[in-house]
Amino acid sequence: MTDAPNPLNCPECDNLLKTEKELKKGLLIECSACGTENEIISLDPLLLSPLEEEK
Ligand SMILES: [Zn+2]
Repeated sequence: MTDAPNPLNCPECDNLLKTEKELKKGLLIECSACGTENEIISLDPLLLSPLEEEK
C-alpha cells in the first residue's frame, strides 16, 4: 500500500490533489496550487469539474 488514498489531479493545473474524505459525487476538493475548487461529478470514471469562481 504505497499509493495515496485518493490520488486526483486538478483539471486546471494538473496539480496532484489529495483528500482524506470519502470520495463521493458533489464533494469539493480545493487545489492547493491554483485555488480552484473542483467538484466530483462522477465516480466511475472519476471525473472532476472545476467550479468557476468570480473574482
Ligand atoms: Zn490546480
